[in-house]
Amino acid sequence: MAQIIDGKAIAARIRAELKEKTQVLFDTTGVRPGLALLLVGENSASQIYVRMKGKACEEIGIYSITERMSEDVSEAVVLNKVKSWNEDPSIHGILVQLPLPNHIDTNKVIDAIDPLKDVDGFHPVSAGNLMLGKPGFVPCTPSGIMELIRSTGIETYGKHVVVVGRSNIVGRPVANLLSQKKKGANAIVTLCHSAAKDLSYYTKQADILIAAIGVAELIKGDDVKEGVVVIDVGVNRVEDPALEKGYRICGDCHFESVAAKASFITPVPGGVGPMTIAMLMNNTYISAVEHTI
Ligand code: NDP
Repeated sequence: MAQIIDGKAIAARIRAELKEKTQVLFDTTGVRPGLALLLVGENSASQIYVRMKGKACEEIGIYSITERMSEDVSEAVVLNKVKSWNEDPSIHGILVQLPLPNHIDTNKVIDAIDPLKDVDGFHPVSAGNLMLGKPGFVPCTPSGIMELIRSTGIETYGKHVVVVGRSNIVGRPVANLLSQKKKGANAIVTLCHSAAKDLSYYTKQADILIAAIGVAELIKGDDVKEGVVVIDVGVNRVEDPALEKGYRICGDCHFESVAAKASFITPVPGGVGPMTIAMLMNNTYISAVEHTI
Protein backbone atom coordinates (compact mmCIF):
# COMPACT_ATOMS: atom_id res chain seq x y z
CA MET A 1 0.00 0.00 0.00
CA ALA A 2 1.29 3.42 -0.98
CA GLN A 3 2.62 6.05 1.35
CA ILE A 4 0.38 9.11 1.30
CA ILE A 5 1.99 12.39 0.22
CA ASP A 6 0.33 14.77 2.64
CA GLY A 7 -0.02 17.98 0.66
CA LYS A 8 -2.01 19.60 3.44
CA ALA A 9 0.85 19.15 5.92
CA ILE A 10 3.54 20.22 3.43
CA ALA A 11 1.51 23.30 2.48
CA ALA A 12 0.97 24.14 6.17
CA ARG A 13 4.72 24.03 6.74
CA ILE A 14 5.36 26.34 3.76
CA ARG A 15 2.70 28.76 4.99
CA ALA A 16 4.18 28.80 8.50
CA GLU A 17 7.65 29.53 7.06
CA LEU A 18 6.22 32.27 4.87
CA LYS A 19 4.50 33.86 7.86
CA GLU A 20 7.85 34.15 9.61
CA LYS A 21 9.68 35.42 6.52
CA THR A 22 6.94 37.96 5.83
CA GLN A 23 7.27 39.32 9.35
CA VAL A 24 11.06 39.55 8.98
CA LEU A 25 10.66 41.39 5.67
CA PHE A 26 8.28 43.85 7.27
CA ASP A 27 10.46 44.36 10.35
CA THR A 28 13.59 44.98 8.31
CA THR A 29 12.23 46.96 5.36
CA GLY A 30 8.71 48.12 6.29
CA VAL A 31 7.44 46.31 3.18
CA ARG A 32 4.41 44.08 3.42
CA PRO A 33 3.83 41.83 0.38
CA GLY A 34 0.60 42.78 -1.39
CA LEU A 35 -1.64 40.62 -3.58
CA ALA A 36 -4.51 41.95 -5.70
CA LEU A 37 -7.24 39.50 -6.64
CA LEU A 38 -9.79 40.15 -9.37
CA LEU A 39 -13.01 38.16 -9.48
CA VAL A 40 -15.44 38.72 -12.34
CA GLY A 41 -18.93 37.22 -12.16
CA GLU A 42 -20.61 34.70 -9.91
CA ASN A 43 -18.82 31.40 -10.69
CA SER A 44 -19.18 29.57 -7.38
CA ALA A 45 -15.86 27.67 -7.59
CA SER A 46 -14.04 30.92 -8.42
CA GLN A 47 -15.65 32.65 -5.45
CA ILE A 48 -14.44 29.87 -3.14
CA TYR A 49 -10.90 29.97 -4.60
CA VAL A 50 -10.64 33.76 -4.26
CA ARG A 51 -11.93 33.61 -0.69
CA MET A 52 -9.38 30.91 0.18
CA LYS A 53 -6.56 32.95 -1.35
CA GLY A 54 -7.59 36.07 0.60
CA LYS A 55 -7.77 34.03 3.81
CA ALA A 56 -4.32 32.55 3.23
CA CYS A 57 -2.92 36.08 2.77
CA GLU A 58 -4.50 37.19 6.03
CA GLU A 59 -3.08 34.22 7.92
CA ILE A 60 0.45 34.82 6.59
CA GLY A 61 0.42 38.59 6.96
CA ILE A 62 0.26 39.41 3.26
CA TYR A 63 -1.83 42.47 2.42
CA SER A 64 -4.58 41.56 -0.03
CA ILE A 65 -7.29 43.34 -1.90
CA THR A 66 -10.16 41.61 -3.69
CA GLU A 67 -11.98 43.47 -6.45
CA ARG A 68 -15.33 41.90 -7.38
CA MET A 69 -16.84 42.89 -10.71
CA SER A 70 -20.20 41.96 -12.19
CA GLU A 71 -20.50 39.37 -14.99
CA ASP A 72 -21.32 42.07 -17.58
CA VAL A 73 -18.38 44.36 -16.79
CA SER A 74 -16.60 45.61 -19.91
CA GLU A 75 -13.17 44.41 -20.96
CA ALA A 76 -11.90 48.00 -20.77
CA VAL A 77 -12.84 48.28 -17.08
CA VAL A 78 -11.02 45.02 -16.31
CA LEU A 79 -7.94 46.16 -18.23
CA ASN A 80 -7.93 49.52 -16.43
CA LYS A 81 -8.08 47.80 -13.06
CA VAL A 82 -5.11 45.59 -13.94
CA LYS A 83 -3.16 48.60 -15.18
CA SER A 84 -3.87 50.53 -11.98
CA TRP A 85 -2.46 47.64 -9.93
CA ASN A 86 0.60 47.51 -12.19
CA GLU A 87 1.35 51.05 -11.04
CA ASP A 88 0.45 50.55 -7.37
CA PRO A 89 3.63 50.08 -5.27
CA SER A 90 1.71 48.36 -2.46
CA ILE A 91 0.77 45.55 -4.87
CA HIS A 92 3.46 42.97 -5.69
CA GLY A 93 1.25 40.29 -7.20
CA ILE A 94 -1.82 40.41 -9.46
CA LEU A 95 -4.13 37.46 -9.90
CA VAL A 96 -7.09 37.45 -12.26
CA GLN A 97 -9.29 34.51 -11.32
CA LEU A 98 -10.14 32.43 -14.38
CA PRO A 99 -12.37 31.71 -16.18
CA LEU A 100 -13.45 35.17 -17.29
CA PRO A 101 -16.81 35.69 -19.01
CA ASN A 102 -16.78 34.96 -22.77
CA HIS A 103 -16.99 38.61 -23.86
CA ILE A 104 -13.63 39.33 -22.20
CA ASP A 105 -10.46 38.29 -24.02
CA THR A 106 -8.55 36.33 -21.37
CA ASN A 107 -5.24 36.58 -23.23
CA LYS A 108 -5.56 40.35 -23.46
CA VAL A 109 -6.14 40.61 -19.70
CA ILE A 110 -3.26 38.29 -18.80
CA ASP A 111 -0.99 40.15 -21.24
CA ALA A 112 -1.86 43.41 -19.47
CA ILE A 113 -0.39 42.20 -16.14
CA ASP A 114 3.10 43.53 -15.45
CA PRO A 115 5.28 40.40 -15.80
CA LEU A 116 7.08 41.48 -12.60
CA LYS A 117 3.76 41.06 -10.75
CA ASP A 118 2.59 37.93 -12.58
CA VAL A 119 2.40 35.69 -9.49
CA ASP A 120 0.04 33.25 -11.24
CA GLY A 121 2.75 32.69 -13.88
CA PHE A 122 0.38 32.79 -16.86
CA HIS A 123 1.87 35.81 -18.67
CA PRO A 124 3.71 34.92 -21.92
CA VAL A 125 6.94 36.33 -20.42
CA SER A 126 6.64 33.90 -17.47
CA ALA A 127 5.75 31.02 -19.81
CA GLY A 128 8.74 31.89 -22.02
CA ASN A 129 11.14 32.04 -19.08
CA LEU A 130 9.88 28.68 -17.84
CA MET A 131 10.27 27.17 -21.30
CA LEU A 132 13.87 28.46 -21.47
CA GLY A 133 14.68 27.34 -17.92
CA LYS A 134 15.25 30.97 -16.87
CA PRO A 135 14.21 32.41 -13.49
CA GLY A 136 10.67 33.74 -13.34
CA PHE A 137 7.24 33.07 -11.93
CA VAL A 138 6.20 29.43 -12.25
CA PRO A 139 2.44 28.70 -12.30
CA CYS A 140 1.31 27.67 -8.82
CA THR A 141 0.02 24.13 -9.42
CA PRO A 142 3.11 22.89 -11.34
CA SER A 143 5.29 24.62 -8.78
CA GLY A 144 3.35 22.87 -6.00
CA ILE A 145 3.79 19.50 -7.72
CA MET A 146 7.56 20.06 -7.94
CA GLU A 147 7.64 20.96 -4.25
CA LEU A 148 5.64 17.84 -3.29
CA ILE A 149 8.11 15.66 -5.20
CA ARG A 150 11.13 17.51 -3.77
CA SER A 151 10.02 17.53 -0.16
CA THR A 152 9.04 13.85 -0.26
CA GLY A 153 12.57 13.05 -1.42
CA ILE A 154 11.46 11.33 -4.63
CA GLU A 155 14.26 10.93 -7.18
CA THR A 156 13.44 12.30 -10.63
CA TYR A 157 16.85 11.98 -12.31
CA GLY A 158 16.52 9.62 -15.28
CA LYS A 159 13.03 8.52 -14.23
CA HIS A 160 10.23 8.16 -16.71
CA VAL A 161 7.57 10.73 -15.87
CA VAL A 162 4.27 10.38 -17.68
CA VAL A 163 2.10 13.50 -17.55
CA VAL A 164 -1.50 13.10 -18.67
CA GLY A 165 -3.00 16.44 -19.69
CA ARG A 166 -1.39 19.25 -21.69
CA SER A 167 -3.09 22.39 -20.37
CA ASN A 168 -1.05 25.56 -20.12
CA ILE A 169 -1.75 25.79 -16.40
CA VAL A 170 -0.76 22.27 -15.31
CA GLY A 171 0.34 19.55 -17.74
CA ARG A 172 2.54 21.45 -20.15
CA PRO A 173 4.49 23.51 -17.56
CA VAL A 174 5.03 20.55 -15.22
CA ALA A 175 6.26 18.42 -18.15
CA ASN A 176 8.63 21.23 -19.04
CA LEU A 177 9.93 21.68 -15.49
CA LEU A 178 10.58 17.98 -15.03
CA SER A 179 12.44 17.65 -18.32
CA GLN A 180 14.89 20.47 -17.55
CA LYS A 181 18.54 19.65 -17.00
CA LYS A 182 18.43 20.72 -13.37
CA LYS A 183 18.58 19.28 -9.88
CA GLY A 184 15.17 17.94 -8.88
CA ALA A 185 14.24 17.43 -12.53
CA ASN A 186 16.23 15.74 -15.33
CA ALA A 187 13.47 13.23 -15.99
CA ILE A 188 12.47 11.55 -19.24
CA VAL A 189 9.02 13.00 -19.84
CA THR A 190 6.10 11.74 -21.90
CA LEU A 191 3.18 14.15 -22.31
CA CYS A 192 -0.16 12.46 -23.05
CA HIS A 193 -3.50 13.91 -24.04
CA SER A 194 -6.84 12.90 -25.47
CA ALA A 195 -5.33 11.76 -28.79
CA ALA A 196 -3.69 8.81 -27.00
CA LYS A 197 -5.47 5.78 -28.48
CA ASP A 198 -4.41 3.51 -25.62
CA LEU A 199 -3.61 5.71 -22.61
CA SER A 200 -2.65 2.80 -20.39
CA TYR A 201 0.15 1.85 -22.83
CA TYR A 202 1.84 5.07 -21.65
CA THR A 203 0.73 5.20 -18.00
CA LYS A 204 1.98 1.64 -17.37
CA GLN A 205 5.50 2.82 -18.24
CA ALA A 206 5.52 5.61 -15.66
CA ASP A 207 7.91 5.69 -12.73
CA ILE A 208 6.13 8.91 -11.81
CA LEU A 209 2.61 9.53 -13.07
CA ILE A 210 1.08 13.00 -13.03
CA ALA A 211 -2.63 12.99 -13.83
CA ALA A 212 -4.08 16.39 -14.78
CA ILE A 213 -7.05 15.32 -16.85
CA GLY A 214 -10.31 16.33 -15.20
CA VAL A 215 -11.99 12.94 -15.68
CA ALA A 216 -13.05 11.24 -12.46
CA GLU A 217 -11.09 8.06 -11.67
CA LEU A 218 -10.03 7.52 -15.28
CA ILE A 219 -6.77 5.79 -14.29
CA LYS A 220 -7.21 2.48 -12.50
CA GLY A 221 -4.79 0.13 -10.76
CA ASP A 222 -4.44 -1.96 -13.93
CA ASP A 223 -3.13 1.12 -15.76
CA VAL A 224 -0.02 1.58 -13.58
CA LYS A 225 3.00 -0.48 -12.65
CA GLU A 226 4.07 -1.60 -9.16
CA GLY A 227 5.96 1.09 -7.23
CA VAL A 228 4.80 4.05 -9.31
CA VAL A 229 4.70 7.51 -7.68
CA VAL A 230 1.32 9.11 -8.38
CA ILE A 231 0.55 12.81 -8.29
CA ASP A 232 -3.17 13.22 -8.85
CA VAL A 233 -4.03 16.79 -9.80
CA GLY A 234 -7.66 16.16 -10.77
CA VAL A 235 -10.50 17.65 -8.78
CA ASN A 236 -13.75 16.06 -9.87
CA ARG A 237 -17.19 16.10 -8.34
CA VAL A 238 -19.13 12.83 -8.61
CA GLU A 239 -22.67 12.25 -7.44
CA ASP A 240 -22.95 10.21 -4.27
CA PRO A 241 -26.47 9.92 -2.89
CA ALA A 242 -25.09 8.17 0.20
CA LEU A 243 -23.57 11.46 1.35
CA GLU A 244 -25.61 14.28 2.83
CA LYS A 245 -24.24 16.81 0.35
CA GLY A 246 -25.03 14.43 -2.53
CA TYR A 247 -21.55 14.34 -4.04
CA ARG A 248 -17.92 13.54 -3.31
CA ILE A 249 -14.67 14.97 -4.61
CA CYS A 250 -12.25 12.59 -6.28
CA GLY A 251 -9.15 12.68 -8.43
CA ASP A 252 -8.33 11.45 -11.91
CA CYS A 253 -7.05 8.17 -10.44
CA HIS A 254 -9.14 5.47 -8.82
CA PHE A 255 -7.55 5.88 -5.40
CA GLU A 256 -7.95 2.40 -3.86
CA SER A 257 -6.75 0.35 -6.84
CA VAL A 258 -3.92 2.74 -7.77
CA ALA A 259 -2.75 3.17 -4.16
CA ALA A 260 -2.57 -0.63 -3.84
CA LYS A 261 0.25 -0.66 -6.42
CA ALA A 262 1.88 2.74 -5.93
CA SER A 263 4.82 3.54 -3.66
CA PHE A 264 3.58 7.10 -3.06
CA ILE A 265 0.30 8.80 -3.90
CA THR A 266 -1.34 12.18 -3.32
CA PRO A 267 -4.89 12.05 -1.98
CA VAL A 268 -7.76 14.12 -3.40
CA PRO A 269 -8.56 16.31 -1.59
CA GLY A 270 -5.49 17.09 0.50
CA GLY A 271 -2.73 16.49 -2.05
CA VAL A 272 -1.95 18.97 -4.81
CA GLY A 273 -4.80 21.38 -4.00
CA PRO A 274 -3.38 22.93 -0.80
CA MET A 275 0.01 23.34 -2.50
CA THR A 276 -1.41 25.60 -5.21
CA ILE A 277 -2.37 28.33 -2.74
CA ALA A 278 0.86 27.91 -0.75
CA MET A 279 2.89 28.48 -3.92
CA LEU A 280 0.81 31.55 -4.79
CA MET A 281 1.69 32.97 -1.38
CA ASN A 282 5.34 32.09 -1.99
CA ASN A 283 5.34 33.82 -5.40
CA THR A 284 3.81 36.94 -3.81
CA TYR A 285 6.44 36.98 -1.09
CA ILE A 286 9.26 36.54 -3.64
CA SER A 287 7.81 39.33 -5.78
CA ALA A 288 7.78 41.67 -2.77
CA VAL A 289 11.40 40.79 -1.97
CA GLU A 290 12.46 41.37 -5.58
CA HIS A 291 10.65 44.72 -5.71
CA THR A 292 12.35 45.72 -2.47
CA ILE A 293 16.01 44.92 -3.15
P1 NDP B 1 -7.92 20.95 -19.00
O1 NDP B 1 -9.34 20.57 -19.25
O2 NDP B 1 -7.44 22.28 -19.44
O3 NDP B 1 -6.96 19.85 -19.63
C1 NDP B 1 -7.24 18.50 -19.51
C2 NDP B 1 -6.24 17.72 -20.30
O4 NDP B 1 -6.54 16.33 -20.19
C3 NDP B 1 -6.24 18.03 -21.80
O5 NDP B 1 -4.92 18.12 -22.28
C4 NDP B 1 -6.97 16.85 -22.42
O6 NDP B 1 -6.53 16.52 -23.72
C5 NDP B 1 -6.58 15.73 -21.48
N1 NDP B 1 -7.56 14.65 -21.50
C6 NDP B 1 -8.90 14.75 -21.33
N2 NDP B 1 -9.46 13.52 -21.42
C7 NDP B 1 -8.45 12.65 -21.66
C8 NDP B 1 -8.39 11.25 -21.88
N3 NDP B 1 -9.49 10.50 -21.84
N4 NDP B 1 -7.20 10.70 -22.11
C9 NDP B 1 -6.06 11.45 -22.14
N5 NDP B 1 -6.06 12.78 -21.94
C10 NDP B 1 -7.24 13.37 -21.72
O7 NDP B 1 -7.72 20.75 -17.42
P2 NDP B 1 -6.70 21.43 -16.39
O8 NDP B 1 -5.30 21.11 -16.75
O9 NDP B 1 -7.09 22.83 -16.17
O10 NDP B 1 -7.11 20.62 -15.07
C11 NDP B 1 -6.99 19.22 -15.00
C12 NDP B 1 -7.58 18.75 -13.69
O11 NDP B 1 -6.81 19.30 -12.64
C13 NDP B 1 -9.01 19.20 -13.43
O12 NDP B 1 -9.68 18.20 -12.68
C14 NDP B 1 -8.85 20.43 -12.57
O13 NDP B 1 -9.97 20.67 -11.74
C15 NDP B 1 -7.65 20.05 -11.76
N6 NDP B 1 -6.87 21.18 -11.27
C16 NDP B 1 -6.53 21.16 -9.96
C17 NDP B 1 -5.78 22.16 -9.44
C18 NDP B 1 -5.41 22.09 -8.01
O14 NDP B 1 -4.93 23.07 -7.48
N7 NDP B 1 -5.55 20.94 -7.36
C19 NDP B 1 -5.37 23.32 -10.24
C20 NDP B 1 -5.71 23.21 -11.63
C21 NDP B 1 -6.46 22.17 -12.11
P3 NDP B 1 -6.71 17.55 -24.97
O15 NDP B 1 -5.65 18.58 -24.79
O16 NDP B 1 -6.48 16.70 -26.13
O17 NDP B 1 -8.10 18.09 -24.85
